[in-house]
Amino acid sequence: MKWFIPDSIKAISPYVPGKPIETLEREYGITDSIKLASNENPLGPSPLAVNALRDVIGKLHRYPDGAGHQLTHRLARFLAVKPSQIVIGNGSDDILALLARVLLQPGDEVVVPHPSFLLYKATAQSASAVPVVVPLKEMNIDLEAMLERVGARTRLIFICNPNNPTGTIASRDTFESFLAALPSQVVVVVDEAYIEFVRDSNSFTGIDYLAANIAVVTLRTFSKLYGLAGLRVGYGVMPVELADMLNRVRMPFNVNTLAQVAAAAALDDFEFRERTLATVHQGLDFLYTELGRRGLRYFPTQANFFLIDVGRSADEVFEAMLRQGVIVRSMTSYGYPRFIRVNVGLPIENERFLKALDLVLKAVK
Ligand SMILES: *Cc1c(COP(=O)(O)O)cnc(C)c1O
Repeated sequence: MKWFIPDSIKAISPYVPGKPIETLEREYGITDSIKLASNENPLGPSPLAVNALRDVIGKLHRYPDGAGHQLTHRLARFLAVKPSQIVIGNGSDDILALLARVLLQPGDEVVVPHPSFLLYKATAQSASAVPVVVPLKEMNIDLEAMLERVGARTRLIFICNPNNPTGTIASRDTFESFLAALPSQVVVVVDEAYIEFVRDSNSFTGIDYLAANIAVVTLRTFSKLYGLAGLRVGYGVMPVELADMLNRVRMPFNVNTLAQVAAAAALDDFEFRERTLATVHQGLDFLYTELGRRGLRYFPTQANFFLIDVGRSADEVFEAMLRQGVIVRSMTSYGYPRFIRVNVGLPIENERFLKALDLVLKAVK
């Protein structure tokens, strides 16, 4: 090639998303499949969001509000923060990219947990920064070990809370000691894509630390609890000075009109949120009981998904489940070759998952 592409870019592993249901059905010649692989909301999108979308369709010849005024102000009230502390993004993924562009120079270091969300590492590499990978400790993000890897070049630290794919959370006390020990040039990113599902009372949110000596950036999304993954809308909450910088490099229309309107409406959809939480929590308890009865090892979660140790090749189990029309995620690419990740579905989907699993575990040795 005649172009000069940095080695750090060539080193990025392509992100392999869960394939859309339609693609898998086409590839495997199956129909009526169910997807429990991408931690989406099994109830569909928030009905209030869908209604709001109908009202705005006739205005799509206009550019979106570049400042996202309504959504930002609605969020500020909801979170009890200032609008100037919020940056909206095309999914929370977008905020990751903005953080990299604002904070990272080639050779800077980014401390990332592993296994965790795979985009953190790619985010560092996209800015030619160096990912410093810190293994989990017994499925938990190891904040002490991460602290030990912080040096003069460290600019960013990623924490996924609850962690995808293990579903574990860090306790408030652990997080506070960690913050207190960090040097002031570091920015801590707490990715809270699943925070609303947490049942453990010992949890914390990064939003409570906006006034800390260390800059804490909290990422949230409308893709999970609010059922709007297809629209792409998320946000970061951070100190005003940092939000100002991100807003300078953000594309002026990064969040489209439909996404802004739907997200603002979904925030008001109290009924939908409660129904989603009930579905997820009851579904989890049901699956725990059923897996326990089968003597299968699983890892209790604070999110809407969890890991199951299938005791054999997760890739083979994934394939065999797929042939039964049940789409789960093999954790091989995360470094757990015998684990699958499953998100809670509707009750009927959870039943179908168990039925398929029973068949598959008899067939695959
Ligand atoms: C799903 C998910 C997100 C959300 O990403 P969006 O870009 O907002 O859809 C962020 N972080 C983690 C860990 C996730 O699993």
